[in-house]
Amino acid sequence: MTVDPPPPASASSLTPMMPYDDAARERARIFATAAREHAAAIGAPPLLEKPINAGRKLRVVCVGAGFSGIHAAVYLPQHVPNLELQIYERSDDVGGVWQFNRYAGIACDIPAHSYQLTYADNTQWSKFFAPGGEIQAYLARVADHYGVRKYMKMRHSVEELLWIPDEGKWLVRVRNLDTDEMVEDKADFVAYAGGALSKPVWPKIPGREIYKGIIHHSAGWDSAKEEADGVDWSDKTVGVIGVGSSAIQIVPEMQKRAKQVVNFGRSKTWLSGVFSPDVLAQLGANTKEGMNHIFSDEEKERLRDTEFYAEFRRMVERDLGSVHYLTHRGSAMQTAIRADVDATMRRKLARKPDIAETLIPPFPIGCKRLTPGPGYLDALVADNVNFVRDDLECFTEKGIRTKAGEEFELDAIICATGFDVSSIPGFPIIGLDGVNLQDAWKDEARTYLATTIAKMPNFFSILGAQSGVGSGSLLIIMEEQVAYMARALNKCANEGYKSLVVKEEAVASFLRYTDAYFARTVFTEECKSWYKNGKMGAAKIRTLWPGSSQHAILSLRHPRWEDYEYEREPEYDHPLAWLGDGHIPVDMDPAFYYDDLRSRIEKTSFFID
Ligand code: NAP
Repeated sequence: MTVDPPPPASASSLTPMMPYDDAARERARIFATAAREHAAAIGAPPLLEKPINAGRKLRVVCVGAGFSGIHAAVYLPQHVPNLELQIYERSDDVGGVWQFNRYAGIACDIPAHSYQLTYADNTQWSKFFAPGGEIQAYLARVADHYGVRKYMKMRHSVEELLWIPDEGKWLVRVRNLDTDEMVEDKADFVAYAGGALSKPVWPKIPGREIYKGIIHHSAGWDSAKEEADGVDWSDKTVGVIGVGSSAIQIVPEMQKRAKQVVNFGRSKTWLSGVFSPDVLAQLGANTKEGMNHIFSDEEKERLRDTEFYAEFRRMVERDLGSVHYLTHRGSAMQTAIRADVDATMRRKLARKPDIAETLIPPFPIGCKRLTPGPGYLDALVADNVNFVRDDLECFTEKGIRTKAGEEFELDAIICATGFDVSSIPGFPIIGLDGVNLQDAWKDEARTYLATTIAKMPNFFSILGAQSGVGSGSLLIIMEEQVAYMARALNKCANEGYKSLVVKEEAVASFLRYTDAYFARTVFTEECKSWYKNGKMGAAKIRTLWPGSSQHAILSLRHPRWEDYEYEREPEYDHPLAWLGDGHIPVDMDPAFYYDDLRSRIEKTSFFID
């Protein structure tokens, strides 16, 4: 049997084949019926009566409106047609960790010009390491500028995610924190972007409830608000527990504000000093050693120049990325930098040499998170700071007692004691076969490329387990994870997949690679760090990306779709159904390919003038 095409609607029309009007639609229907009969006669599957790339509507729920949620809200609608996006955020405003952490001295210890979205450059950061409040204001500005607040519901806390296999959707249970009402939502896909540092941990010593002074965890301590409420530190003795990245920022600030500071530091740590001297030299900047550079008005003016700025930013990125080899055991960079940092720390602590003996670690640089610590060593040698190495016994009514029996009377105690970084979700996430991620990850977080998880269909983890960095830029990994998710969404929409889920064997291979990689790095040497959730030595690392940040980008850029299992939508009943009826969508520019194809070859000039 042969099938003739339907006759043109009118001789003058340029679009007679497209079913724009009822008559054309009817002709197409008759044609399709004949075509189906023909297909059946030759044993071919029937064509799906849709254009190629029809792309079903996808509803995505994103958990969290921090850096990742804001970026997802900017990126996904621009890259996934037919998208409906809903972001739930339990806080009052966007910003995530920067909204939540407002302790005295908070700043980012990564250069500000790198710690921002690649497409939303702020040229006017006040300092080389931006204060936390500025980062929070930047994120709010990005959200406003790109108009993405419309996707967000603040003060809504996601409390359960449940995969419904028959529907191929996630049931999302959300608590409205203002009304305490539970509401339900459904989503085809979930972006899980709740942040790795969102569950503060208090020191595990008894008596916190009997202490009568001011007490805060660093996360959740809004120092500016407290001062506005009348707290005056100048007559107070303040204890700061910890020598992690948070305490290292708090101590120099409280040294300036308080009468006396007692820093309880039971562990050892390297302080790199402020890196990037070449970058700052490029600006002609002159900064006191180990201090956070404050950009002058002239420097900020220079940074407004687009070309200069782009080059400056590339230098910052290169500088940050070049530190990667420091994380390799026995590398020449490790040996050289360690000797240098050791000498600098001893020199800066010369007024109180005992602290150098206590603080300088026997393990390599980078084993525990390396922080520049601008001003920390200077604060430790100040007259109003006391550094106490002893382990803590308990809180008392008036302060803290050490195991050595010494009692410290303190008007306030700041517990900069870190976070639970086990990656176990704070609420049930129940995927295929009733598997709850809270149980599945009790012993270890198991991801594929830090982004997808076995038994969790249509689920993407953004900046969660395995996506931290021990050196280099963090946010570029997040941007690439969101791009990876967008590719998966488009694949499912266009190829008629209801769901995709990573194969367990792919997860297992990735983790074998991960363990082999970390065995050659300093992270698995004899130190206790949050990378190993507080464990010592060669514990498994499920917090960091196994490679450099740049390596993460290249790894995520070209998805290995064969590492996934798929379930097709019922109407896509054979593997090539997605080819549709041989047409492109009616609203697509028929010349869409012109710019695409041309951009594949660098165009220098007209071939023929
Ligand atoms: P952290 O690195 O886990 O440090 C917690 C500190 O508290 C450690 O020194 C720990 O000692 C100490 N500690 C805990 N319990 C104690 C106890 N009972 N007695 C005495 N000391 C105790 O936490 P963090 O400083 O909040 O930093 C966590 C992560 O947040 C950082 O690594 C970083 O990724 C991020 N952060 C980033 C920035 C930034 O600028 N980008 C700033 C702050 C934080 P032990 O080591 O002996 O357990």
